[in-house]
Amino acid sequence: MLAALNFAYADHSWGRYEGPNCEIFRQQLADYHDVEFVMLTQSGTFAVELALRGCHIGPGDEVILAGYDFGGNFAAIEAVGALPVLVDVDEGNWNLDPRQLTQAITDKTKAIIASCLHGGVIPMREVRSIADEHGLLLVEDACQMPGGIVEGRTAGTWGDVGILSFGGSKLLTSGRGGAVFTNSEEVFQRMKIYMNRGNNAFPLSELQAAVLRPQLGKLDKRNALRHASAEKLLPQLKRLPGLRPLVNRVRKTVPGYYKVGIRYVPEELGGLSREEFVAIIREEGVDLGAGFRGFGRRSETRCRRVGDLTQSRLAGRLMLVLHHPILLEEQEALDHVVQAFRKVTQVFASDQSEPSQDRDLLEEVDFEEMELDQGDHS
Ligand SMILES: *Cc1c(COP(=O)(O)O)cnc(C)c1O
Repeated sequence: MLAALNFAYADHSWGRYEGPNCEIFRQQLADYHDVEFVMLTQSGTFAVELALRGCHIGPGDEVILAGYDFGGNFAAIEAVGALPVLVDVDEGNWNLDPRQLTQAITDKTKAIIASCLHGGVIPMREVRSIADEHGLLLVEDACQMPGGIVEGRTAGTWGDVGILSFGGSKLLTSGRGGAVFTNSEEVFQRMKIYMNRGNNAFPLSELQAAVLRPQLGKLDKRNALRHASAEKLLPQLKRLPGLRPLVNRVRKTVPGYYKVGIRYVPEELGGLSREEFVAIIREEGVDLGAGFRGFGRRSETRCRRVGDLTQSRLAGRLMLVLHHPILLEEQEALDHVVQAFRKVTQVFASDQSEPSQDRDLLEEVDFEEMELDQGDHS
């Protein structure tokens, strides 16, 4: 990356509107995903909105998404003037449940947004076939698993449009940035027109593209390492009380691990709240956080809910997410994570009749310092 930055400095592309980096990176992404059209954007959040515009979605249309998802996806649907329609997530994997889709579809439905979150994988083949059956467009948000394999295909390529993010904490990062890709010339042309305000108004910069190029080259190797670490870690966490790693049922799949999602079960830990649990684990030096808030409580004037969204609400309250950098560290660091979870869960699971004693651990925690804004993607 330092070489890329030096090069961008030496050839002055750092200060240019148009240079070699964006063009080469765009082509790299097209080859990597085997798609015809790629557009680079200033964020993944905007890329989702752009995709919806490319799909010609607007007022009067409905777009289905999971009741537990990235807040920006709900906002993108509203931004184009369409109505978000919420379906529940799968009980075991807390990601979009394809079995909920059919009952959500009406004459107004135009598209489905599917995003695989926290190492949980959606059965995309099933989602694709439901979309085809009903003539719907599929927007696949692959921001959390660039380069992941879902039922034999690269994440993002099940969709009519695929989305990536290069935001500051993502697996490919330039601080900010995103991409949209598609094989549809029609979708691509509409996106191009929207982007162009006499100039590209929502661009990725040359300097950003410069640092992304070498990262894409290393993505497969790193994804394989992260996957191997997750395969070691998850079975160990699964054995502990209060923790249920997300369950994936799809074959030929290598999840991407921007976050490692774990369902938290407070009843097994003496009712210890998720926020308390996260704070205590963080005291042990483990980068654990809370997941998204989810949309289970969004007002009915802003969206249409299908069913009671029980699992989405639970996910919004109880999802734990472990940040990805640990997955590229040495065995010792992974062992430390397991030990921290073991230590804390043992304390709270062991003697539930005397919670006051267990609370001693809590007194060491400074709740003021906790940052648990699930609304963002930190
Ligand atoms: C991060 C993320 C995005 C887009 O994020 P940006 O920071 O705007 O690039 C979209 N969807 C999901 C699921 C994400 O995690």
